[in-house]
Formats: sequence, structure tokens, C-alpha cells
Amino acid sequence: MSDLPPNQTTAELIAELTKRGASMEQIALLKNSGAQTPEEALQSLKAGNTRFYSDKPERVFTDVNHRRAQIMAQTPFAAIVGCADSRVPVEIIFDQGPGDIFSIRVAGHVISPGALGSVQYAVAHLKIHLVVVLGHEGCGAVAAAMPDAIQRTDEPSHVQFLLEAIAPALLDLPSIRDPKARMREACVLNVMHQKKRLESDPFIAQAVASGQIQVVGAFYEIGSGAVDFLED
Ligand SMILES: [Zn+2]
Repeated sequence: MSDLPPNQTTAELIAELTKRGASMEQIALLKNSGAQTPEEALQSLKAGNTRFYSDKPERVFTDVNHRRAQIMAQTPFAAIVGCADSRVPVEIIFDQGPGDIFSIRVAGHVISPGALGSVQYAVAHLKIHLVVVLGHEGCGAVAAAMPDAIQRTDEPSHVQFLLEAIAPALLDLPSIRDPKARMREACVLNVMHQKKRLESDPFIAQAVASGQIQVVGAFYEIGSGAVDFLED
């Protein structure tokens, strides 16, 4: 493989090797595993979101050569725990392609046992470097869990489970007159609450302490397309 011309893109390289009869294993080795540290992973997501909200996306590789490069293994650089809301498709808003993001989506990005197990898997076996808890503007799950929301007990049992997992986040919601600003604050409080729940897991805490991963909260504005990464 050493006689290939320099400066080929990964796609061109895979196409060339496929023509030369390379095996799936050889092609899989070429898959760019992306960011190697929590900082690089964060920069990749920030750069991707900037491309997205600037209407200049470029990284969504879905052609046959990229799919072939991923047959043998997946090498995502980050896990994102996001809301199931259809307006928040994580790969698209961070301008990433198949194989880049280990995506966990559940209403209100609640850290349920299934969500926690999925993050643990990504940390233990996929060696990801970053976990993002991603909230968003106008989250219906957060709205339904607000202290003044209508009867939660009217909801189906597992919807109640989700709302009860969000409600503690909103106990200290300050009184804010503007409804839009109040909802934003509630959504951000839920991000920080679910992030704390994730970080309180001993396995995740150990991965943070060792420097393998960083856990960050973030908030997505539907209208602008921009993601704010939140400081603690
Ligand atoms: Zn939501």
C-alpha cells in the first residue's frame, strides 16, 4: 500500500484499494478514528456544529466505500446522550457521518439504566473520549415535567418514569417571567441534572478521573442551529 500517491482523501484511498482487490480487513484499517483526546473530540463537534449552522456541511460520508470501511468495526470518537425529539438529529447537527458518534437518544435525555449501560459500553469497549449530554430548546419532556404541568399521573406508566427522572432537576427553577427564558433555564437545569447522574456512576467517574473521557453538557437551539457547550 506504500506506493499510493500522497494527499489522497480517505474516500479516494478506499476506492483505489478496492480496485486493487484489498480485503475488508485492510480497508477497515484505513478508517480514520478521528479525535484521540477529549479536547480533540470536543473541537471536532464544535467545528462540525459551526459547519452545520453556517449551512456548510461537508462530512456526511455515506457512500459505498465509507460503508465498506466500517464493516469490521466502529470507531466513534464521542457518545452523545440526546433527546429523542425529531428536531435534534445529532449526527446532522454536528455534521458527522456514520461511524463517528455513538448516539443514545431518549426523551428528555434521561439517564435511564439502558442509557447508562450504553455509555458504559462506549467507554469500556469503543474507547470514546467524550460524552455529551445534549438538551435542546423547547423540550416537550422537560415542559411536561415542570412543577406546574398538568397531572403526570394521566400519562402512560413509562412516560411517568421519564418525567419523574426529570422533575428533581426543576425543583430549584428560579422564577423567571419570560416563558421562553424560563423554559431555556429548565432545559439547562435538566442537562446538568442528567450529567450529574451520569458522573455519579463509579465506572464513568473512574474514566473521567483517568483522563480517558470528559463529560460535558450542551444546549441546542433549534432556530439558529447552534450548540452551546455549558460550563459547570
Ligand atoms: Zn426533548
